[in-house]
Amino acid sequence: MLVEPTDSARQSTPREHKYRILIVDDHPDNVEVIRVRLEAKGYRTSCASDGEEALRLVAESPPDLILLDVMMPRMDGNEVARRIKSDVSLPFIPIIMQTALDSTQSKVQGLGAGADGYITKPIDFVELEARVEAMLRIKMLEKKLTELSITDELTGVFNRRRLDALLGEMFEHSTRLHEPLAVAMFDVDHFKQVNDTHGHPAGDRVLSQVAQLLKGAVRDIDRLGRYGGEEFMVLLPGTVLDAAVTFAERARQEVETHQFKFDGGVLSRTLSVGVAGWPHPRIHTHEQLVKAADQALYLAKSLGRNRVVRFDSAEFNVNVKDVDDQHENGTSSGGAARAD
Ligand SMILES: [Mg+2]
Repeated sequence: MLVEPTDSARQSTPREHKYRILIVDDHPDNVEVIRVRLEAKGYRTSCASDGEEALRLVAESPPDLILLDVMMPRMDGNEVARRIKSDVSLPFIPIIMQTALDSTQSKVQGLGAGADGYITKPIDFVELEARVEAMLRIKMLEKKLTELSITDELTGVFNRRRLDALLGEMFEHSTRLHEPLAVAMFDVDHFKQVNDTHGHPAGDRVLSQVAQLLKGAVRDIDRLGRYGGEEFMVLLPGTVLDAAVTFAERARQEVETHQFKFDGGVLSRTLSVGVAGWPHPRIHTHEQLVKAADQALYLAKSLGRNRVVRFDSAEFNVNVKDVDDQHENGTSSGGAARAD
């Protein structure tokens, strides 16, 4: 028969939490007693003795939860909560207000200012721990939801929505600081044949493995995502076109020599790649940067696949006559390149 560990046994071995809790109170004794209690439970803590210090610490490194005293000189807890909750650059940080006033009005004020919960002083530590745990469960759910909303389910890399947002941020950063930025578009050649011949599970395996190979090829600062179907995009900040082409060529070779395993056998597959970079005299927006990479990819396909083509190279310009006309007529990029 299994014996449930007793409460005291559980308490004797606090597990190391990854959560960090910011304790804000103008009375050092209050901070200390809460800090000791939470650390005994395995939480990491940081402390602030007034509202301004709290805001500074939150800006430096957002904690996972804030235990916030209401009654503080200069800036009270309600104001601190209001500022944190209205700062859109911050992630969701649950705030538990500590109020000495066990009055409905004070609680309503705190909740109205953005607090997610409250606890009254003198603090009952059992209740405090329960409230902290409950709030962290919500924080974890929120984190999970955010992850799901930016991740491609099949391959685990970023999805297109996230890629678009990242590219927008990176392009803005690059143009402001005049730092190069490159985009590489990868498309799996004859992907439809995999599905048709071996079934969709095999196709899924190929996509997952391509994502893994690309993941292994990128640097920490690069961003990899699935742009759609069998198309992947890599954003390479601080990278000039030459270096991006070198990277793309290496990734292409890795996929070419890889044996894709699936339930029922192995197969080989190749990649066509289009690469474009900023600064470039004809690229002024991040949409144009993607379009340029997409046009290069389109040409890689039509030149016979399994190759890297760079936007505005001699090869590109010989084959793609009037880029801007093609943009306007919609005869280039997009659909055709993704056909297979
Ligand atoms: Mg106080």
